[in-house]
Amino acid sequence: MKKAYQFRIYPTKNQEVKLNRTLSTCRHLYNESLEERRRESELNNLERDFGVCPWGKPHWIKYEDQQNELPLSKTPYQKEVFSQVLQNVLKRLDISFKNFYRGNGYPRFKGMNRYNTFTYPQKGFGIEDGKLNLSKIGCIRIFLHRDIEGNIKTCTIKKDVDQWYVIFTTEIEREIKNIPVETIIGIDVGLKSLLTLSNGEQIEPPKFLRISEDKLVREQRKLSKKKLRSNNRNKQRIKVARVHRKIRNQRKDFAHKTSRMLVDHFDRIVFEKLQIRNMVQNHCLAKSISDAGWGQLQTFTEYKAEEAGKQAEFVIANGTSQECCICGNKEIMTLADRTFRCSKCGSIKDRDHNAAINIENRSIGTDCTEFTPVEIEPILCR
Ligand SMILES: [Zn+2]
Repeated sequence: MKKAYQFRIYPTKNQEVKLNRTLSTCRHLYNESLEERRRESELNNLERDFGVCPWGKPHWIKYEDQQNELPLSKTPYQKEVFSQVLQNVLKRLDISFKNFYRGNGYPRFKGMNRYNTFTYPQKGFGIEDGKLNLSKIGCIRIFLHRDIEGNIKTCTIKKDVDQWYVIFTTEIEREIKNIPVETIIGIDVGLKSLLTLSNGEQIEPPKFLRISEDKLVREQRKLSKKKLRSNNRNKQRIKVARVHRKIRNQRKDFAHKTSRMLVDHFDRIVFEKLQIRNMVQNHCLAKSISDAGWGQLQTFTEYKAEEAGKQAEFVIANGTSQECCICGNKEIMTLADRTFRCSKCGSIKDRDHNAAINIENRSIGTDCTEFTPVEIEPILCR
């Protein structure tokens, strides 16, 4: 079983310079390697379309090619970074490409504020005398607020606006006894940070979360009015990022508490499968924030359930709001309709409650292993 632990770290001014430089070096490597892969595929397409190719046969750059190339052509900056950290950057790019082959978007170049983490995948880090020792960076003060269970496998450093964190992932070997399923609950997630359970209960997020969400909209609006590339704009950008962080932390806290409650009370928890693709394409800010939060709640519930020998299940929830949970009759519902009235069996229920029951009804039990998409290799040209 895998587990992740996050701790805040407090680098000195000097260490912060090194951390920032490492991020920047990793980001450049990411972008350059992406450019390399992109150029190669363009040339390959040229061959496919016109039969001309600078090299005899089309060749697709793979992770291994870029990894082998790395030690031979290191820049002075790259020499200052632990080598496995650099390799991990290439790995990350490779994962983006694999996701692309599965149908997600083409990997994107990372701008200045879009690259915030780097990872020591095996070694080069350790905790000594209550400090985090990072190879090529130094011993950083760390606040270890909880014990770490299991062997630490990877160490990721994360920059969050003006704060730094370390995330350890650990592997724990433990026998988990599966609990027989006696209680099942279905959960409908709403747009307005509201959860509806199939037993009719509703869980409201804490009020301060709403307050922060409103504040974000205000600050974001201010940002859009600032002049491009001005000093004021940059200041406002940091302000917005801070509100973002606050919301993230508040949501995380809410997700932790809610998932704990769910796992303590129910043996199988059924969620709707979120459509990640729609999430990314959705430009509505409130919606994207709330979806991101729901993803987190699902992840937390999933691992807490696993630890407890219980089940979290994800079902496809298309049309759960339009379907009667008692007789299956379909009604036309607009977003404004808050009550579901069935014209066939006469059932009257709150819209979200009806949807939550439908989600529960779609549970098939997690014993049926879910179909996972096979890794699709890029289609080679003739
Ligand atoms: Zn009905």
